[in-house]
Amino acid sequence: MSQAECCELLKRAQLGRLAVSRQDQPYVVPIAFSFDPERNCLYLFSTLGKKIEWMRENPKVSFQADEIAYRSNWSSVVLNGTYLELRDPQHATEKQHARQCLSQHRQWWLLPMEERRGEVPDLDIDPIFFRVDIASMTGLRAVND
Ligand SMILES: Cc1cc2nc3c(=O)[nH]c(=O)nc-3n(C[C@H](O)[C@H](O)[C@H](O)COP(=O)(O)OP(=O)(O)OC[C@H]3O[C@@H](n4cnc5c(N)ncnc54)[C@H](O)[C@@H]3O)c2cc1C
Repeated sequence: MSQAECCELLKRAQLGRLAVSRQDQPYVVPIAFSFDPERNCLYLFSTLGKKIEWMRENPKVSFQADEIAYRSNWSSVVLNGTYLELRDPQHATEKQHARQCLSQHRQWWLLPMEERRGEVPDLDIDPIFFRVDIASMTGLRAVND
């Protein structure tokens, strides 16, 4: 797939898999995201947990998203990038932009996040907004005409 086709897939997709690593140990989770083609980055949000702690230690990440029609018709994008946490006050404007980009995708994680809040009221589970700056990206497609 061309870079333009990879970008088109990322614009359409809502869910991907974020891979982080620490001390030679990879860790992958499904997560909602929004692609910003102008800034060439992904916006994501999360509660504080393992992946955030690991990315704070090692900001290098991989990310994968796909569209699967059926077994012989699918497209997949894999990218490498760098984690950057959108903190107040220096990233306040961009954080608002990220919040807006992700507003349609928040349902994926909203309910479990509320459940967590109920289970662990003392834990800091305010959403953390972050972006992944894309360093490189490839796409692979299987098409059965
Ligand atoms: C469709 C979908 C959309 C999602 N969207 C978001 C989103 O937008 N933002 C977001 O933060 N999270 C989202 N999640 C949840 C996400 O996959 C993680 O479960 C969650 O973020 C917690 O990750 P953590 O590293 O903070 O976990 P922690 O709570 O710190 O993890 C503790 C342990 O739980 C296990 N664990 C954590 N997550 C999973 C999992 N998904 N499957 C199996 N075991 C797990 C791990 O082994 C880990 O060691 C989504 C999940 C799905 C399925």
